[in-house]
Amino acid sequence: MALNLVMLGPPGAGKGTQAERFAREHGIPKVSTGDILREAVHSASELGIAVQAVMERGELVGDDLIIGIVRERLSRPDAVAGFVLDGFPRTAAQANALDQITAARGPVICVEIQVPDEELVRRVQARRVCEDCGANADAFEHQANALPGSCQNTERCKTAGPKWVARSDDSASVVRERLKIYWRDTRPMIDYYSARPTFRRIDGLQTPEQVREALVSAVASALGLQASQLQSMVAKKLGGGTAEPRGAR
Ligand code: ADP
Repeated sequence: MALNLVMLGPPGAGKGTQAERFAREHGIPKVSTGDILREAVHSASELGIAVQAVMERGELVGDDLIIGIVRERLSRPDAVAGFVLDGFPRTAAQANALDQITAARGPVICVEIQVPDEELVRRVQARRVCEDCGANADAFEHQANALPGSCQNTERCKTAGPKWVARSDDSASVVRERLKIYWRDTRPMIDYYSARPTFRRIDGLQTPEQVREALVSAVASALGLQASQLQSMVAKKLGGGTAEPRGAR
């Protein structure tokens, strides 16, 4: 059974961190439109040059552009057995496109991580990413309030030492703009999903570990399974064990 998961929720809800871990532990790719666009900006590709200013203002890039990117990414062989989408869909047009793209691919599970706005602003302003590769510092095991010594994502990051910086669109004014757009465009789209039998909501104010457990239970219940049944299905698929942990979580 394909495991098609869409993570929904506002900026700073923890979608990226949870998506990364869920994807790794279930042997499916994480497809983050924010990461794809940031990589394009970082490498100054034609796409990156086209979207940089829009992203820095906290606005959304055009539907046709982002739909094309997701359509292409989900058509690759590694996404046949499932995927975790993070940051897409964000508008009704994107949700309709995703329905078409996934029409013949089994159920799509949608999980919304709920977090109040005040906490989102606090989290996003505290967020630090690796200046070199863009990985989120929260993605690595570390003590509360203490950043890991260096980013562990690539060999270059490991040896270059810590260069944690704020994301350029995480400033107070841009975060407010992103939240405004979220409430205007994305929230109504989530209401459209919420009537589906495969829609679940989880509380994003819990610890990351509790959110992870809630996510696994939500996905299992959307598939009509117990969490333990989902785990044994995945263990079988991954060859009798859980996925090898990578540096990034
Ligand atoms: P967030 O922390 O707000 O969830 P993301 O990393 O998902 O941020 O996205 C960063 C930026 O990339 C967005 O503010 C937007 O400009 C652009 N972007 C990402 N995904 C989409 C999308 N599905 N549609 C339009 N723009 C997007």
